[in-house]
Amino acid sequence: MEDCLFCKIIAGEIPSAKVFENEDVYAFRDINPVAPVHVLIVPKKHLQSTEELTGKDDVLLGKMFEAARIVAKQEGVSGKGYRLVFNTGAEAGQTVPHLHMHLIAGKTLSWGA
Ligand code: AMP
Repeated sequence: MEDCLFCKIIAGEIPSAKVFENEDVYAFRDINPVAPVHVLIVPKKHLQSTEELTGKDDVLLGKMFEAARIVAKQEGVSGKGYRLVFNTGAEAGQTVPHLHMHLIAGKTLSWGA
C-alpha cells in the first residue's frame, strides 16, 4: 500500500526501532509508549484491521502470536505478564489503518475503557 505508514516502516523507508522480523511479521517499538515495554507486531501483508481477517489468515495470526511470545521473552517479560491488544476502528482508538498488535508490559497494568 503506497500511503501506509506501517508499510513504509516495513520497507525501511521510514526508520523504526526493530525488535523482531521474519518473512511474515515485523515488530518495532511504539514511538509513543504507554508502558516501559510497548512493541507493535505487524504483518508484512497489508490488512486494514482485524475486520479484514478471514480463515485464510489463520497461519498469519499464529505467526503474529508466535512473534509476540518471542518479543516478550526478548524483553524479559514473558514470565511476568504482558498485554496483547488489537484496536479495531476509530472508536477503539485505531489510528494507523494497517493491522497491528500492541504488546504492552513492564509495569502493573490497570484495566479500563
Ligand atoms: P493504534 O492507535 O492502535 O492504531 O496504534 C498505532 C500506534 O502506532 C500508536 O500507539 C502510535 O504511537 C504508533 N506509531 C505511530 N507512528 C509511529 C512510528 N513512526 N513509529 C512507531 N510507532 C508509531
